[in-house]
Amino acid sequence: MTSIGFCGLGRMGAPMAARLVDAGHDVSVWNRTPERAESLVQRGASRAGSPADAAARAEIVVTMLADPRAIEEVVFGPDGVAAGVRSGTTVVEMSTIGVDAVRSVAARLPDGVEMVDAPVLGSVPQAAEGTLKIFVGGDQSAFERYRRVLEAMGTPRHLGSLGAGAAMKLVANSTLGVLMCGLAEALALADALGLEESAVLDILAESPIGATVKSKRAKVESGVYEANFTLALAAKDLGLVTSAAQAAGLQLRLAPAAHDWLELANAAGLGDLDYSAVIAEARGRTASGGSP
Ligand code: NAP
Repeated sequence: MTSIGFCGLGRMGAPMAARLVDAGHDVSVWNRTPERAESLVQRGASRAGSPADAAARAEIVVTMLADPRAIEEVVFGPDGVAAGVRSGTTVVEMSTIGVDAVRSVAARLPDGVEMVDAPVLGSVPQAAEGTLKIFVGGDQSAFERYRRVLEAMGTPRHLGSLGAGAAMKLVANSTLGVLMCGLAEALALADALGLEESAVLDILAESPIGATVKSKRAKVESGVYEANFTLALAAKDLGLVTSAAQAAGLQLRLAPAAHDWLELANAAGLGDLDYSAVIAEARGRTASGGSP
């Protein structure tokens, strides 16, 4: 049994923390909106009053938060993780925040506090089932020490030194964003050429973009884009991809275009919907998050 502080109980964090509780770990949970901790507490977690409190007794502190700003506030803000964490603790950063933010956080943690980055591929169903792919960057011995904890949430793979997990996550999500925006443009083109939607979806479902079509078809046909992965977070990710490429001296063309589409849809008010709502934006259709 490992004592774990878990900060961030959103769509992904809540089911991930639940798996740690169910695996028998001693889990102390914190979320900015405290009500979201309720079901975890009923499941057997203890409630922390602050990130510092969640970190104080922990062998590892997991962060699963929206973006680099949220990490900054939760780790270094008043009563943040850094204020409570003890020497010897490991911070396991599982959000998607990019390589620079991971390294910046690690460099400012108190002496004796180690960090590994462990962002995940998969969404809410995989988080609930414990079948996430977990991309780990950091010291091999820290990985071996906490491999069993990560295995309660999915399949961890050690990819190299600190930042390697975050880098792999950007690579993976660059493809997600580009595929979804490619599908959005294909459907917009089909509309412009006067094709019938269900025929187009049938054909594309059997093409190389088929997995994306099959997983989002019900949303496209209903106009109801209830989120597992919000469009605002996808826009954030494509922004991280674009800036990471720029910093590495690489000029990408598709990822910045996907970022533009997602930002356009975000500005149109679709940020809380599933990221596939970029399809509705490209087609000039309405999209909602609840009943049609
Ligand atoms: P989410 O449902 O939007 O939850 C975001 C979490 O961050 C919530 O706990 C939220 O607290 C917290 N938060 C946001 N801003 C904060 C701030 N300034 N201070 C403190 N807490 C803050 O997001 P999610 O879908 O769980 O995603 C979490 C991370 O995993 C993101 O980096 C995302 O890109 C990544 N990810 C998501 C998926 C997916 O399919 N959803 C898959 C893989 C990776 P409140 O509850 O108070 O708002």
